[in-house]
Amino acid sequence: ASLVAGSIGALSEVLGDTQRAAGATERLLDLLTAKSPVQSVLLPETLPPRTANGAALHMEDVVFHYPSRPDSSALMHLSLDIRPGETIAIVGPSGAGKTTLFQLLLRFYDPQQGTIKLDGVDIKFLSLQTLRGAIGIVPQDTIVFSENALENIRFGRADANDEEVIAAAKMAAAHEFIERLPQGYQSFLGERGVRLSGGQRQRIAIARALLKNPPLLLLDEATSALDAESERLVQSALEAAMIGRTTLVIAHRLATVQRADRIIVLEHGRIVETGTHASLIAQNGLYASLAALQFNTD
Ligand code: ADP
Ligand code: MG
Repeated sequence: ASLVAGSIGALSEVLGDTQRAAGATERLLDLLTAKSPVQSVLLPETLPPRTANGAALHMEDVVFHYPSRPDSSALMHLSLDIRPGETIAIVGPSGAGKTTLFQLLLRFYDPQQGTIKLDGVDIKFLSLQTLRGAIGIVPQDTIVFSENALENIRFGRADANDEEVIAAAKMAAAHEFIERLPQGYQSFLGERGVRLSGGQRQRIAIARALLKNPPLLLLDEATSALDAESERLVQSALEAAMIGRTTLVIAHRLATVQRADRIIVLEHGRIVETGTHASLIAQNGLYASLAALQFNTD
């Protein structure tokens, strides 16, 4: 019973800060059935003072299989060294391990082997609150709650005042459409309220992340096509969101991979190629074929 209670506690802690990421229900089921939940430590460490550029992330020889699939590794000997402020695009076919990587960073699971360090601290020794407090998530499908626009954005940081919420909305290119709603920021959203377009929901998610202002941003780009105007606005919102922080983005758009400092290509849980868009296209390998499909992998 304590395992279940602990898991739900951990989940709601993340949810408060991560826009109740899509897939939460699925993840809850995962947590409830997981055989080896993350271990808590008695004396959690703290992160060093934040730097202006964002967090450093080091992964060393990470090996991970889901508890339910002991003989199928989702990540194999993964090593990554990410400097503060870098933007890393992650691409790869469906099932390559992209989402799993994010789940390990958030400690929904611990790897069976290897270490993950945030600003030099092994994340196993951080409290989940500290770890998840340092990470913002823009999920593939943003959940909009039955609340007004102001409160929807405030999910990013519960103690933010209205001015801060509106400033985040402006940076996320959400302010203009919100102001045009019948009651502006007081407009009720969600199922029984104003239905937002995909691009508008994404900008709400980005506004939440900006409000939270984490040193590390995990972005799972939507696969669904946006109209050109939405695409442009989402792109400018993402650019604002990446300033001054380290960003990992599961990328599905050419504009995103082109702008990334580095692209990591995953296949069967391994890094098979890494480089810039131009260098990987020239390599004419997996990346080049994924690019030809416009990264519509899942
Ligand atoms: P991607 O996001 O790149 O499509 P995933 O990280 O979701 O890939 O999946 C990597 C591998 O782990 C796949 O083989 C997938 O079937 C498996 N997997 C993903 N989630 C789970 C889970 N909750 N339980 C067991 N296996 C999973
Ligand atoms: Mg995925």
